[in-house]
Amino acid sequence: MGLVGSSIVRLLPLAPKFVVRWVANRYMAGETLNQALGVMRRIGSQGACFTVDVLGEEISSLDETRFFIREYEAVLDAIVEHEIDANISIKPTAFGLLIDLKAALDNIESLIRKASEHEIFVRLDMEDSRVTQSTIDVALAMHSKGLTNVGVVLQGRLLRTPLDISDISRVTGPSTDFRICKGAYLDSADISHTGYREIVDATNHAIDLMLDSGAYTAIASHDTPVIKHSLESLESRGMGPSKADPRHSSDVVRNRDKGPGYEFQFLLGVRGDVRRKLSDQGHRTRIYVPYGTKWYEYSMRRLRENPEVAMHITKALLMPWTNRR
Ligand code: FAD
Repeated sequence: MGLVGSSIVRLLPLAPKFVVRWVANRYMAGETLNQALGVMRRIGSQGACFTVDVLGEEISSLDETRFFIREYEAVLDAIVEHEIDANISIKPTAFGLLIDLKAALDNIESLIRKASEHEIFVRLDMEDSRVTQSTIDVALAMHSKGLTNVGVVLQGRLLRTPLDISDISRVTGPSTDFRICKGAYLDSADISHTGYREIVDATNHAIDLMLDSGAYTAIASHDTPVIKHSLESLESRGMGPSKADPRHSSDVVRNRDKGPGYEFQFLLGVRGDVRRKLSDQGHRTRIYVPYGTKWYEYSMRRLRENPEVAMHITKALLMPWTNRR
């Protein structure tokens, strides 16, 4: 991280909230569901679909889960009412995962059931390594109850990921649905890759393992070497826009909003130019749309966890043409 980036990390917590807000605005859809709906309506014309995230994560009491349950139920209702091409992403710790596993399972199940009534997919975002296994266990528990409209995120940087891919896909078979990303949390070298090149290589390897396992593979990276590798891997497996997924016969039914075995995912506000190009080439592209009142805490935590984000923000501010929303 350069001098400018590290200065931003040091200074942003001291900055007035409106300055942080100004920076965060690019990456958030607003504080309310209505604002998020407005953003999706505006960007929908660019050929992308969405996954909606209500900002907020680890909570300190189970009472706080009520807010997330109610808000996500409202998101599901709005997706149906406004016929938006969207699914939802949830953070299991916001549903009580680190407080009471049984309560978290019940909370998450009720939401997944409601989503399944409308054929809406639910992605369990992956948080830090304290909850990797329990998040996977939640998804497997839902599949064992016949709720197949749910899938986890795996992080390329974690050493355990190749094994997780084979273990999960063995249990959930053709209904396995992964999002693969590099991983936003900085973990130590005993459990994760730590260098840029190793993380890229490990993420690319994970993408190949997912494609070879037959799983639906949502590639969530803005990084050119990962996107380029993915395009080559898809092509060599006969996968691509408007081609039927060659890995499965037509009896594998996926949620209605899915692509032909894969899709590309981007964060709102990041590398819109790359996303639009993929979309123009016919690839299914999805934008992760966070909204909510917890934007300040969210921005600060992200920045502390991974100061590289400051570099991206600096670049986006100083050279906006490299990073159109
Ligand atoms: P990078 O090398 O970090 O970025 C490549 C280029 O993209 C940069 O040079 C820059 O131009 C641009 N860029 C990247 N990030 C930003 C930014 N914030 N602002 C401006 N420009 C930027 N991580 C998890 O741990 N768990 C999850 O559940 C999870 N879900 C995700 C969902 C989606 C849809 C996406 C896209 C990412 C998700 N991540 C998640 C984050 C991911 O793990 C990485 O931390 C993040 O995407 C940065 O890695 P990158 O592959 O995009 O490559």
